[in-house]
Amino acid sequence: MVISWLKNRRRTKLLACHFPAGWLEILERNVAPYRVISTAQQDRLRDCIRIFVAEKNWEGCSGLALTDEMRVTIAAYACLLLLGLEHDYFSHVLSVLIYPSDYRAPAKRNDIGVIMETEDDRHGEAWYRGPVILSWKEIQEDITQPWDGQNLVLHEFAHQLDMLDREVNGTPPLHSRDQAERWHTVMTAEFSRLIRDARHGRPTLIDPYGTTNEAEFFAVTTECFFDAPRELREQHPELYDLLHEYYGQDPAEWRHERAS
Ligand SMILES: [Zn+2]
Repeated sequence: MVISWLKNRRRTKLLACHFPAGWLEILERNVAPYRVISTAQQDRLRDCIRIFVAEKNWEGCSGLALTDEMRVTIAAYACLLLLGLEHDYFSHVLSVLIYPSDYRAPAKRNDIGVIMETEDDRHGEAWYRGPVILSWKEIQEDITQPWDGQNLVLHEFAHQLDMLDREVNGTPPLHSRDQAERWHTVMTAEFSRLIRDARHGRPTLIDPYGTTNEAEFFAVTTECFFDAPRELREQHPELYDLLHEYYGQDPAEWRHERAS
C-alpha cells in the first residue's frame, strides 16, 4: 500500500509539470494519430506518456544512444492503446529495449517434438512479465508510412495487453461473459477467414502474419484497428465493433488527415 501511495504521489507530481515543448513537437511530427484525436484524448495521451516515460527502464542496445524522440514516440503509440481502457500504464512492463535495426535473437522451435535452438532476424518482441524489445529502424518506417495498417509498437504492446490475464491466447481480460462469447465467435470466424484468404493467395488488409496463432492475430488486428481503422470497419465490421468495444475507442471516426 505504501508503494502505491508513493507511486501515486510521484505521478501527481509529474503531471503537475508542463509537458515539455520539445516532446510536443515530437508528437506532432511522429505520431499521426495524435494529430487527429480529440483535444481531450490528446490531454490524456500526454499525461500517459509522461508517466510511461518516467516509469520504464529504457535501454539502447548494440550501442544505440537513446533520445527523447525514441522514448516519446514509443510511449505515445503504447499509450494510445490505453486511452479507453482501465489500466496501470503497462506496469508489468519494466523495461523497453531498443535496437538500432533488426536484430538476431536465439529462438526455440518445436519441430516434430524436437526443440531446436535457431536464430531469427526480429523487429520486436514482447515478453511475459518482461521487456518489450523494438527495432528503431522499423518504428521509423511506421512513422513515415502512417495509416497503412502496420505498426510495430502497437503490435508488441497489444501482446502485453493479451498477457495481462497470464495467457498468451489472443484474448485480453474482458468485461463480461457476454463479451467473451462474442469475442470467441467473431475472432474464430475472422481468424479462419484470414487463413482461408492466405491459403488462396488473396490480398488481405490484415497482415497474413496473423495466421501464425490467435495471439498474433489479435496483435495484427490491433495494428489495423488503430492504423487502418476505416478500412477495417468497412471490410471487417464485426471485428471492428468488437475491438471498438474492447479498446473503448472509435478510430474510424477520428478527424481524418490522409495526404491523398
Ligand atoms: Zn507478435
